Amino acid sequence: MDVIQQPATHFDVIVIGVGSMGASACYFLAKRGYSVLGLEQFDIPHEQGSHAGQSRIIRKAYFEDPNYVPLLNRAYENWEALEKETGTKLYFQTGLVYFGKPGNTLIKGVKQSASLYNVPLEKWDAGTPAGKFPQFKIPPGFETLFEPGAGFITPEKSVLLYAGQAIKNGAEIHVKEKVLNWKKEGSKIAVTTEKNTYRSNKLIITAGAWAGKIIPPIADQIKVTRQLVAWIKPRQWNNYSLHNFPCWMIADEEKPGAYYGFPALPVETFGEPAGLKLAYHYPGEITDPDKVNRQADPKEIRDLEYILAKYLPGAFESVLAIKTCLYANTRDENFVIDRLPGYEEQVTIACGFSGHGFKFASVAGEILADLAIKGKTEMPIGFLQVQRFV
Ligand SMILES: Cc1cc2nc3c(=O)[nH]c(=O)nc-3n(C[C@H](O)[C@H](O)[C@H](O)COP(=O)(O)OP(=O)(O)OC[C@H]3O[C@@H](n4cnc5c(N)ncnc54)[C@H](O)[C@@H]3O)c2cc1C
Repeated sequence: MDVIQQPATHFDVIVIGVGSMGASACYFLAKRGYSVLGLEQFDIPHEQGSHAGQSRIIRKAYFEDPNYVPLLNRAYENWEALEKETGTKLYFQTGLVYFGKPGNTLIKGVKQSASLYNVPLEKWDAGTPAGKFPQFKIPPGFETLFEPGAGFITPEKSVLLYAGQAIKNGAEIHVKEKVLNWKKEGSKIAVTTEKNTYRSNKLIITAGAWAGKIIPPIADQIKVTRQLVAWIKPRQWNNYSLHNFPCWMIADEEKPGAYYGFPALPVETFGEPAGLKLAYHYPGEITDPDKVNRQADPKEIRDLEYILAKYLPGAFESVLAIKTCLYANTRDENFVIDRLPGYEEQVTIACGFSGHGFKFASVAGEILADLAIKGKTEMPIGFLQVQRFV
């Protein structure tokens, strides 16, 4: 008699969205021996959400809020553990140079977090940047800080590795399977996709820019914006290459937020596109994540050229590539990592990463596994509670 094996439809935990945070959550749950189903509407990785584009800055002198620093300490440890486990380099320590007026939020915040948590930070006097990185032209009156322990993480590779390691540890991950809805059904949670209905004891929702669509109670709290990223051809490629040029953040006096960029990375190791990558960290135009205009507005490109002309005057030759990526912003630009009110025993959410979440993916997955299984975590995430909004 042939025994027909039915696909599993019951799991300890279902994770909706296998991107930055979801892939990591699947990994930590599978590693602890739980049966996990991860459901992803696109591929792993993909370019429709928030994790595409080769590089993400990681830093500890966190200008946004010093409360993030203990989470960052853990994030660094977890990235290193993933590198060791897979024999793959994910973190590149380039150092990060910060420029801005002394009273600017960026500069004040970097100094505050560094001094509270003893994060190594160098304060360079006016002549130093030109001595160390003559590529930059810094206006008089600007302060220059350098965080030697900062650098960047490769996001697509990281998401792929976490998902792959989750599968190696027994997780099931379905790609190209969009979740349509979820509901409480007796003591279980039922999750319906385009293909099937699955049931679990616990649910984790890590839907990124789609969080508002799949968690209706928080829909009003998440504003999705399109963000432009450009890769330019530098005039002297070698001056901006990985070992000659750091990551950077600049608080311009004329514009809110910050401009930031990376060294030009070799395509053989990091993939396309080639070039010197830069972007503007400030919420862009509001969009529906399913109807994103992926064309660059010439004004957005002029904006980036303005920054290059002002601070990296010898750099710009031509634009090589432009991509759009999505931010999912909360009102205060802090994340939400919490149990969902009304479903506290079973549903955990992580969303609203407001354009600065990737570096935390390695600790967010661990926290989500803690919250889903134990209902609590030892990591200090009180400031990320959803209650501040609802
Ligand atoms: C241009 C840009 C630059 C950035 N730079 C930095 C940086 O330098 N440093 C940094 O730390 N952070 C940075 N970030 C922010 C960081 O990338 C994001 O905060 C992070 O990727 C968010 O992770 P996420 O898991 O919430 O979203 P995602 O990684 O997008 O994952 C969400 C996943 O859920 C899936 N999904 C949604 N709905 C469904 C559904 N119904 N069914 C199935 N699957 C679903 C999506 O397809 C997606 O794969 C940047 C972001 C952008 C856009």
